[in-house]
Amino acid sequence: MTGPMLLPGATGLNGSGQPTTLGVMGGGQLGRMFVQAAQAMGYFTVVLDPDVISPAGLVSHYHIKTDYLDEQGLTQLLQRCAAVTTEFENVPAPALVTLGAARPTAPSADAVAIAQDRIKEKAHLALSGVPVAPYAVIETAAQLAAVPDSLLPGILKTARLGYDGKGQVRCSSRAELKSAWDALKNVPCVLEQMLPLAAECSVIVARGWDGSVVHFAPQLNVHREGILAVTEAYAGNMAPALANQAVQAAKNIAAELNYVGVLCVEFFVLAEGSPESEAIGALVVNEMAPRPHNSGHYTLDACDVSQFDLQVRTLAGLPLTQPRQHSAAVMLNLLGDLWVDGATPRWDQVLALPGVHLHLYGKLKASKGRKMGHLTVTAATPEQARSTALAAASVLGIAPFF
Ligand code: ATP
Ligand code: MG
Repeated sequence: MTGPMLLPGATGLNGSGQPTTLGVMGGGQLGRMFVQAAQAMGYFTVVLDPDVISPAGLVSHYHIKTDYLDEQGLTQLLQRCAAVTTEFENVPAPALVTLGAARPTAPSADAVAIAQDRIKEKAHLALSGVPVAPYAVIETAAQLAAVPDSLLPGILKTARLGYDGKGQVRCSSRAELKSAWDALKNVPCVLEQMLPLAAECSVIVARGWDGSVVHFAPQLNVHREGILAVTEAYAGNMAPALANQAVQAAKNIAAELNYVGVLCVEFFVLAEGSPESEAIGALVVNEMAPRPHNSGHYTLDACDVSQFDLQVRTLAGLPLTQPRQHSAAVMLNLLGDLWVDGATPRWDQVLALPGVHLHLYGKLKASKGRKMGHLTVTAATPEQARSTALAAASVLGIAPFF
């Protein structure tokens, strides 16, 4: 489906009538930041999320509190909105099919269905021009037995519903692999060779209905326990040749999928001179997210157009302009761990540091590993951004990362 241009503000004769309303499936923090970007441009918003209290539901004009597949909920959503997007990749594909038949829906059910399934996703990513990690599909005991030795040590990942390192088990022997697959209840999985990572990066692109595409420069990401901890975004954060290769691969993936919306592609950078790097290449494509991404949150504060602005523009068929980053940025994720024992983090001390932008998502309950917010440090130079981020981490009790 192609998308009409849905201008913000009141429509109808003499500018009277209903404001254009944009819808989003899912009420998490990504939905919240989409809603805020849409509202800043004059759109009304509607969120569909079963949770009575959700980060996006709290700030949206309308919140439909039904299950994602609830017919009435979907009908209400369609009545309200002119176009629909999604904020999480596990939104049931049939819901997006229903929505896509009636309204411009971006990304499409097809693109989301590929991203939801690591087996389909890997096959697709392999077309990007950048290799994927060597892997085997494990859906049967025979496939488990046939896994080549070269994939061990490896990481067994469930094909569906994994995030933040959940649904993943590291295995160094065949015995461990077997018990890991049993522990994952023998669901379809992929086993990936464990690679020596020198770094991880991601690229965010936005592609319009007309195929026009813009991108953010690759950001460097540090994960801890499978969860994004830190993103560094500034010129020179990685070798330019690799950065160009990553951007091109992300654009290829988006074009290949005929993708509309914001897409994030995650990459591994392999240790230079390692046998794996010699055999596979220095850059490996890991996975994609069919939506804005945690590693792109810095774009809210460090770029002239954010990833959420681009989500609004792609959905509404508005022009895309190549974003310009005006400040070096380091983003720190604020996990529920910071609230242990009912303590309140020392925001007063953190906000006393220069260039700190605090974002809290309005979640009422903190738990270990739960993403409660993030902060982005912007500065004139990478060195300043890094040292202020380290100071903020020290105030908050986050272990140093540089
Ligand atoms: P996300 O929250 O990004 O969706 P996820 O749970 O889908 O995460 P992955 O991105 O596949 O998981 O892996 C999480 C992290 O585990 C990676 O960012 C990387 O640090 C590490 N990892 C995953 N696969 C490999 C691999 N083949 N070799 C080495 N490290 C890996
Ligand atoms: Mg990942």
